[in-house]
Amino acid sequence: MKTLFINVRLKDIKDLQSILVSDGKFERIGKIEVQEDYNVIDLKGNLVVPPYVDPHIHLDYVFTAKAEGATNKTGTLFEGIQRWSETKSKFTKENIKYRAKKAIKKEVLAGVQYIRTHVDVTNKNFEALEAILELKEELKDIVTIQIVSFPQEGMYAYKNGVELVEEGLKMGADCVGAIPHFEYAKEFGEKSIHKAVELALKYDRLIDVHCDETDDEQSRYVELLAALTYMEGIDKKTTASHTCSLGSANNAYVFRLMNLLCKTKMNFISCPTENIYLQGRQDTYPKRRGLTRVKELNDNHINVCFAQDSISDPWYPLGNGNMMNILDHGIHICQMMSFGEIDNALDLITINGAKTMNLDDVYGIEIGNDANFIVINAKSEFEAICERAGVLASIRNGKYLFDKIPEKVNTDIELLS
Ligand SMILES: [Zn+2]
Repeated sequence: MKTLFINVRLKDIKDLQSILVSDGKFERIGKIEVQEDYNVIDLKGNLVVPPYVDPHIHLDYVFTAKAEGATNKTGTLFEGIQRWSETKSKFTKENIKYRAKKAIKKEVLAGVQYIRTHVDVTNKNFEALEAILELKEELKDIVTIQIVSFPQEGMYAYKNGVELVEEGLKMGADCVGAIPHFEYAKEFGEKSIHKAVELALKYDRLIDVHCDETDDEQSRYVELLAALTYMEGIDKKTTASHTCSLGSANNAYVFRLMNLLCKTKMNFISCPTENIYLQGRQDTYPKRRGLTRVKELNDNHINVCFAQDSISDPWYPLGNGNMMNILDHGIHICQMMSFGEIDNALDLITINGAKTMNLDDVYGIEIGNDANFIVINAKSEFEAICERAGVLASIRNGKYLFDKIPEKVNTDIELLS
């Protein structure tokens, strides 16, 4: 049976629309006559957008912040890595699956249907990667998961790091990861970027590098990553995550770099809550914000999106998978609140994230695509952002993953009713 969603509010369209879904795909969008054999669902004029995308999280780390020995006392990125290194061998495959599932549930209930997760391959016997690969398959009907073969402790700083990343790709990871700013010397950082590109070409995979996650303005691996992937023609398949150092770099350098970035189609991910928490730790006052230049990248039409990064792990104690929360922090920290920017802000957690994950062929409310979308408790983009509006329903392949009853206020006071 075909399902017709009526009274649908879509971006940039004044009148309410209808969406017809058949066989899990968008069949028609626009003014559609109700037919007798349609299953009709009234969305009551609420805003409908493609599902939220969380393009950067670590599902193998979630809910470990309070584990014995894992608590980060200084709040720095590097203590986070140290705490994880000392405790990660304790977690069994079953435990990783249990925790990851709990985080996925939170994200999906907040409207996320697409997740890219890094998985640490500098770990005993690939248990984490096996766990997440199994979840990817088990949960594919409710969430699309992309996996990065990620050397948390370095390709070169960790013994056989390169081989472990390559093995992760052979096991089925979708993306090559790296962490150049963590390698022992600049040259090893550069070597890890070269290696990531080499492996991506060899196995035809995407790239997502933890890149320049430091306030050190001399950390400039983003430039090498952009140049190399552009020259190899794989820039569109490449992502630079974090690039915090650009928030500290001098304007003359960034001006020149921006010319290169404008030529390429490389993607950027910023993690606002995580990076404002972790960075600026060596500053007194004034204290840096620690984020990359999201506003400037966006103004230059370079694809940039926001991500959660952590849910209660040695790097960050909070996190709940609610992308609206991430977005709210992001637009404040990055000063992206002109009315035009607010109206387009949802792109930062929807279509820009999907572009980063190279989902162009399946994602978005367009005829022929998978009928995946969410219903937001708001009548406009502005209201959605201003109210940090919740998700009323999430629909995947034309079927409800869930719907929620909007909050109801009990009161006799006229003003409050
Ligand atoms: Zn990360």
